[in-house]
Amino acid sequence: MEIPLVIVWGYRLEVERVGWTARRCSRCQKVQAFECFDQWKSNHVYFIHGEAKSIGKVLICDFCETSVGLQPNSAEAKSLTCTRSWTKKDGLNALVEKTNPSLGHVPVPEKPGLRELLALLESINERASPYKLRAEQGIAFGMLIGTPIFAVLGLLLSFLGLTGFDASVSAFAGGWIGFLAGGVAGWIKFKWDYSKRLSEEMLIAAMQRNALTLSTLERALKHYPGKLKYVSRGLTLLAADA
Ligand SMILES: [Zn+2]
Repeated sequence: MEIPLVIVWGYRLEVERVGWTARRCSRCQKVQAFECFDQWKSNHVYFIHGEAKSIGKVLICDFCETSVGLQPNSAEAKSLTCTRSWTKKDGLNALVEKTNPSLGHVPVPEKPGLRELLALLESINERASPYKLRAEQGIAFGMLIGTPIFAVLGLLLSFLGLTGFDASVSAFAGGWIGFLAGGVAGWIKFKWDYSKRLSEEMLIAAMQRNALTLSTLERALKHYPGKLKYVSRGLTLLAADA
């Protein structure tokens, strides 16, 4: 007798904080502090994990939170120096000296400039885009609500003699329509709501981290050449709450 064999395998991703480095942020267009993370991947069979392998580094700009990925064997990853013995209180130039002295002395203005503020808004807008958010929960919820409601509706319509089918066929067809329509409606609504919440949360966090006020960000947004739909919705909501 043959026994079917099911092999359960997969992988796990881990990130580890490895300190700070100074480099130029392409979005802020100036030298910033970046927090560095090592990314590890370990494969598993039946949840017994093998050795973790480095799959690269992720650097996140401390101001605009734009992330940069470095391939594990790239020249940039190899020449990267990160330090754990630096805090924001030490100032950006102390970090430059420790990790990237070739940048020389960098000017540190007291307040962030317009370019930096726009970089921050752009980055939040990108991360709060509903197109990038997963919405499985919303689909399932929509289907769960839509199916019984439309099944009952189908049943009612058949009792009123409006469907031309008998009750069970009408209920079944209604249920299917509700299942599909509910899924689509749930998907759209979930993404939209999630994006709104995320945009607001990221704005609040960024304002606290960088000591910015709502009106500073609102003023900066007016200078953006184009539209930042998701972040401007977040700002409008925050202004309405305030
Ligand atoms: Zn930046």
